[in-house]
Amino acid sequence: MVSTHNLGFPRMGAGRELKFALESYWRDASSLDELKRVGADLRRRHWAAQQGLGWVPVGDFSFYDQVLDMSFTLGNLPERVRGYGGDALDNCFRVARGRSAKSSEQHGAAVTAAEMTKWFNTNYHYIVPEFEAGTTFALDASRLLEQLQEARAQGVAAKPVILGPLTYLALGKARDGSDKLALLPRLLDIYQALLQELARAGATWVQVDEPVLVTELEDTWRDAFRTAYAALAAPGVKLLLATYFGTLAENRELVASLPVAGVHVDAINGRDDVQPLADALRSSQVLSLGVIDGRNVWKADLAAILDWVEPIARQLGDRLWLAPSCSLLHVPVDLAGEQKMDPEVRSWLAFALQKLDELKLLARALNEGRAAVSDALSANRSALAARRASPRVTNPNVQAAVRRINVSLGQRKSPYAERARKQAAVLGLPLYPTTTIGSFPQTDTIRQARREHRAGRLDDAGYEQAMKAAIADCVREQEKLGLDVLVHGEAERNDMVEYFGEQLQGYVFSQSGWVQSYGSRGVKPPILFGDVSRPRAMTVSWITYAQSLTRKPMKGMLTGPVTMLNWSFVRDDQPRAATCRQLALAIRAEVLDLEQAGVHVIQIDEPALREGLPLRRSQWQAYLDWAVECFRIAANGVRDETQVHTHMCYSEFNDIIESIAGMDADVITMETSRSDMELLDAFDDFSYPNGIGPGVYDIHSPNIPSEAHMVHLMQEAARRIPATQLWVNPDCGLKTRRWEEVEPALASMVAAARTLRASA
Ligand code: GLN
Ligand code: ZN
Repeated sequence: MVSTHNLGFPRMGAGRELKFALESYWRDASSLDELKRVGADLRRRHWAAQQGLGWVPVGDFSFYDQVLDMSFTLGNLPERVRGYGGDALDNCFRVARGRSAKSSEQHGAAVTAAEMTKWFNTNYHYIVPEFEAGTTFALDASRLLEQLQEARAQGVAAKPVILGPLTYLALGKARDGSDKLALLPRLLDIYQALLQELARAGATWVQVDEPVLVTELEDTWRDAFRTAYAALAAPGVKLLLATYFGTLAENRELVASLPVAGVHVDAINGRDDVQPLADALRSSQVLSLGVIDGRNVWKADLAAILDWVEPIARQLGDRLWLAPSCSLLHVPVDLAGEQKMDPEVRSWLAFALQKLDELKLLARALNEGRAAVSDALSANRSALAARRASPRVTNPNVQAAVRRINVSLGQRKSPYAERARKQAAVLGLPLYPTTTIGSFPQTDTIRQARREHRAGRLDDAGYEQAMKAAIADCVREQEKLGLDVLVHGEAERNDMVEYFGEQLQGYVFSQSGWVQSYGSRGVKPPILFGDVSRPRAMTVSWITYAQSLTRKPMKGMLTGPVTMLNWSFVRDDQPRAATCRQLALAIRAEVLDLEQAGVHVIQIDEPALREGLPLRRSQWQAYLDWAVECFRIAANGVRDETQVHTHMCYSEFNDIIESIAGMDADVITMETSRSDMELLDAFDDFSYPNGIGPGVYDIHSPNIPSEAHMVHLMQEAARRIPATQLWVNPDCGLKTRRWEEVEPALASMVAAARTLRASA
């Protein structure tokens, strides 16, 4: 009998109950007991929803982050939160966000929040564990033991889930630069004790997540895997070593050699691993195949999966388990809530609960024969066939346009130096020109107008008028401040991807398709289901209106194709690069319309360019090649006189700076100020050819930067980059800030630019 299991379930609740409970507790509007009750209730409901699977995950629930939970289990808390008494959960919030609820702060002041970073190639952010050479660990198994007991009391076949020791070490940061692997022996003592506790509490299987195995590992780390799993091969509990998000490739033999009771692999992203592992595993070992995509929202092709899994099921029998490819944390909970979604597209989708149904169906088909589930299989077959055949998915014009793409489409007419001369003549900007990244504060007035418009209480004309008023205010403020290149402020945009997605053909939007991003925060990625086209101009009327209010140059603001792709759920029936090229053509059309309408400066944001990088470095270049190509297609059709800007943020760019230069934007503005201009190190060995604005104002902080500080940062920049190439601007958009903060900060920024000019 083939059996099934799940690796993890979304925690927030279909109605985002956990988000609201957390935020209410942090505001001091409800008690810790109430928060804990919401948590217990969600766990109970989620286990109930997973009943019927062979094994159900326990310990995947978290009030903030599963990596942080593991730090607590291992007793690895930063020194700065150790003095606090009270509830462990308050301390968890202190590490995660610098503070807990006010009423819990017996010891006063807030602490520095821990660093947060992206969980592999997902948009989920985890709290980075901190290490030092002297770090010691101490087991606190209480959270896992309590939840295990809860699940068993509910009659669930409970399988505790923990993060494995090597991935835990790999994801952490040695604050003193010491060798993290030196901590492994100490850490293994704690893991051994933890596994013993779980065995004693009745666990049969424990899922140990080691996704770091899908990345390139140094030999010392590969050896450490052998040492670690030899030490953890204690009897009493069976380990399922789980990897996901990619292929094991060169780590496959290592994995097959480890003394664990079972291995889970991602058969969506690592199909090549499957047959070799099925052949290599010992006859006592289980192979778990992640056959349902845990990272996307499409119905699976059940017949196609059965075609390739049936022979493996015959080979392995009881030793085969089926699962989603990874934790379902990365998809929304339930499609049933999407009553307003286009019914045709909805019939092609599966969210977490629907994916578990697919899993159960597959297991029945394997165990009882396809005939036992023939109705369900044929319903699946028709849904897929309808999707393939739908005229909504394919647009021959778009496909023909993509086929016509050639290098010249991404090629500016003249080299940068010549363009820069022509642009200078048109724009007449001073040395150290000042600008902003696009958005200005989303005031209550703006939000209210949008709410009213959505609810149908404000008509289109009234909404347009409200947005124009906000734009006019924003332009007036920028003139007063003395900025050189102005923006319209993006009042009309709720979100930089959603705004464009709503106007493009090929996209649909969910109402409650939330996915956790970090802590209580979620995103609702749009769903890109078909060939992308642009029925009409999307931004031209707003920008030309803004330009009509000023003689200064007004930037046209667009979201780039790579960011549109990386921040959406995208179709799985063609390569991502192909979808990105379609997006590039749609954005290109908008760029050309803006130029035609007399806009001389056009910014195409690509904040998500870096996060699309594959997990293995050896695959980086292939991604960067098509990503840069797509940006160039979108941007580079313009005349020499038109100045193209781009913007990037959220991460380090030093290791991909040459590809960024390859985008050939006339000006790039980048996030730098939080890292004290670490970015500039990249220019010690590489001379960036075009205009660049290293952000001097950290917009993520409510602090107002001083003129002197910004002058200093720009002088640091000018030591590596000729002053004639430099721009002065904030790190990112200002939409999350208040006008009271933005005004003095930008006034200082403009003053800083004047000081720099005077001394140049
Ligand atoms: N133009 C966008 C803004 O200013 C850019 C946002 C981003 O980089 N994430 O808000
Ligand atoms: Zn940004």
